[in-house]
Amino acid sequence: MENIRQTKQELLNELYRPYRDHRDCPFATPDRKNVVFGVGNPNAQIMFVGEAPGRDEDAQGEPFVGRSGKLLTSILEQFGLSRGDVFITNVVKCRPPNNRRPLQHEIAACTGQLLEQEVAIIDPRVICTLGSCATESILQHPVKITQLRGQKLDWKGKILIPTYHPAYILRNGTQLPFLAHDIQTAIELAQI
Ligand code: URA
Repeated sequence: MENIRQTKQELLNELYRPYRDHRDCPFATPDRKNVVFGVGNPNAQIMFVGEAPGRDEDAQGEPFVGRSGKLLTSILEQFGLSRGDVFITNVVKCRPPNNRRPLQHEIAACTGQLLEQEVAIIDPRVICTLGSCATESILQHPVKITQLRGQKLDWKGKILIPTYHPAYILRNGTQLPFLAHDIQTAIELAQI
């Protein structure tokens, strides 16, 4: 078991190495502090995919460590998991200026170089996409997240559970039970 974990971690390290100080990126502005790669258990059966690092993530070099991240972490803990039990990443690995939504060509470049390989290396049973940007980036077509959330989709032989982005829930607290419910479903389907 330990060997598999090391192998996946090594593959991730190899994947990330050329991008650690990636200047050839639309977001490689003087403001960008860190390229924010995925974190967590490389052997996880569940992978969470968000949109892009925000200010806190850029400063700390880790995904989902700001207010949205604290909400995600507390929901995981509610179901007996820690961040270290799952794998957490983003569609794009650098903070877009003013936290704007990444553009289509930026998403295509970054997911082609990194997200697709992260999925291939982690090879999780379940992918839980947080928000419409992550869901559209994976499915490659526009979605209405209010309609799609909570559904159990088949994506390339994996289970895909789209749900709300935690940042949306911070603005619309009444929807929190839906986010928690979808994450619980994803955890149960991952059988962890
Ligand atoms: N929002 C995201 O989509 N990703 C993060 O890492 C933080 C906030």
